[in-house]
Amino acid sequence: MSDIDDGLNRGANRDLRGLKPALAFLTPYKKQVLFASVALIVTAGATLSLGQGIRLVIDTGFASGQTGVLEQSLILFAGFVVLLTIGTFIRFYFVSWVGERVSADIRRAVFAHLIHLHPGFFERNTPSEIQSRITTDTTLLQTVIGSSVSIALRNVLMFFGGVTLLFITNAKLSLIVLASVPFVVLPIVLFGRRVRRLSRTSQDRLADVGSYAGESLRHIKVVQAFNHQDIDEASFSKRVDEAFAVSVQRIRQRAVLVAVVMLLVFGAVATMLWVGGQDVLAGAISAGELAAFIFYAFIVAGSVGAISEVLSDLQRAAGATERLMELLNSPSEIVAPVQPAPLDLERLQLAFENVGFTYPTRPGQQVISAVSFNVGVGEMVALVGPSGAGKTTLFDLVQRFYDPQQGRITLAGEDIRHLQLETLRGQVGFVPQDPVLFSGTLHDNLVYAVPDADEQSIHEALALARADTFVAQLPDGINTLVGEDGVGLSGGQRQRLAIARALITRPKILLLDEATSALDAESEHHIRASIEALKGRMTILVIAHRLSTVRQADRILVLEQGCLVGSGTHDSLLASNPLYARFAQMQFAA
Ligand code: ADP
Repeated sequence: MSDIDDGLNRGANRDLRGLKPALAFLTPYKKQVLFASVALIVTAGATLSLGQGIRLVIDTGFASGQTGVLEQSLILFAGFVVLLTIGTFIRFYFVSWVGERVSADIRRAVFAHLIHLHPGFFERNTPSEIQSRITTDTTLLQTVIGSSVSIALRNVLMFFGGVTLLFITNAKLSLIVLASVPFVVLPIVLFGRRVRRLSRTSQDRLADVGSYAGESLRHIKVVQAFNHQDIDEASFSKRVDEAFAVSVQRIRQRAVLVAVVMLLVFGAVATMLWVGGQDVLAGAISAGELAAFIFYAFIVAGSVGAISEVLSDLQRAAGATERLMELLNSPSEIVAPVQPAPLDLERLQLAFENVGFTYPTRPGQQVISAVSFNVGVGEMVALVGPSGAGKTTLFDLVQRFYDPQQGRITLAGEDIRHLQLETLRGQVGFVPQDPVLFSGTLHDNLVYAVPDADEQSIHEALALARADTFVAQLPDGINTLVGEDGVGLSGGQRQRLAIARALITRPKILLLDEATSALDAESEHHIRASIEALKGRMTILVIAHRLSTVRQADRILVLEQGCLVGSGTHDSLLASNPLYARFAQMQFAA
């Protein structure tokens, strides 16, 4: 798989070909691109024509001494301006529209791809890094497509048009101007580059400031508990000062740049006026020609400046595109076969056959070794073992978040790799140890897997999970808002809600990762009652941390360091399995 380790490195790419894949996203919007292009050409043409307008107004209008002629020249001039205004409106609207549309499409495409990728992908590429790509990189593309590209194209047109018209207007003056171009452009480019480098550094420093504040504030209780405020204040001040120092450096360079540009521009204008003025006095050219010439000189200089300005934008966008395409092209390691095997829903016995597994991120460590066991339909099996034994990993393997490297897992006799992913996961209800509730109401969370679940099945699921009573007692009942962390609910209540959420899909197999945290006696009692009610209705595989749970189970599997070291009931294992006896004594002491 393609590894993305430079996620936060918003590097540029000198090679603008990197932008090409983004252009593919333009294809559906040919019409808008065409409108924008026509408007772009028209506005560039109209801007260039303004120079001729100026010449006409001065030479014909003023020189003729007649008001009528002046008016005619001005009407022509006004015509150009109107054309320019309308063209600019159309160009701006469509170019920005396309930029927004394309970045929205890219965002959508990237998310639609990511949401199906195997979970292991997000261990190598952290979600926050990916999140920043989806927002920052696409925003960069949006700016580029929605303005920089248009600025670049417009200015390329203006540059060539301007140079041509310069020579047409006055070849001698043009040669002088062109000869002096390097002297003007070089210092600007030089200082410009330095300013840009500093603004990138200054952005990085600013990000440091933000992340430092974020971390301290997020963990405010720890900060205050350790009386760490003063140290945090000092470290934060240091970062703020660093950001300030870089900014001042940038401002200094920028100030020099602005001054140099002023000096050079007005120096150039003065030179042109002086040389051109001599020609006007000598009668070699007209005053209008000189004015038009200066106008074109400004256009050409402006376009060079604009192009150099957006070039770095384009390069950065090429880098951003490459990173986005990398995300879009990352293959999923968990894929369903083209022709999935059918699944016999009536005999969903689950079997591990000599399964061996190693996490791809930790190749040296065998997490599951040669594990084999069967779980019959309707059987309740408890997994016990010390932390790190591999219990949660077994759940991950059943749901095909990872594929084992050795052996196979079967459902109704069929290798789960041969099943449709949705079919497999559709049979499995999963209750994580620390249940995640999404923001929204309790109702939203309950119908997470079955958005059109009716009241009846919601109520049944709540009742089976023994969650109906406390939900009814909440001020807004099932419409109570819960945050990302399920604010205001105890661990036991959250777990019961998670059980209800899993039950709504009417799973054939329930994977229950019992909460390790001490549950209040009432919650524990309710969860036990709930499991008792579910027993026999579905296959239950539970990672057990409580004596009450292992006693309920038909069978207990003992796992240690990825190996299955015992199987039986609590009493038989106590008698026959020293490891279990020792473990049970420590774990279930109470
Ligand atoms: P248990 O649920 O029994 O506590 P786990 O299945 O969570 O054990 O973990 C088994 C082993 O696999 C542990 O050593 C753990 O550090 C490692 N492990 C768990 N998840 C990952 C992962 N995503 N990447 C790499 N190693 C992991």
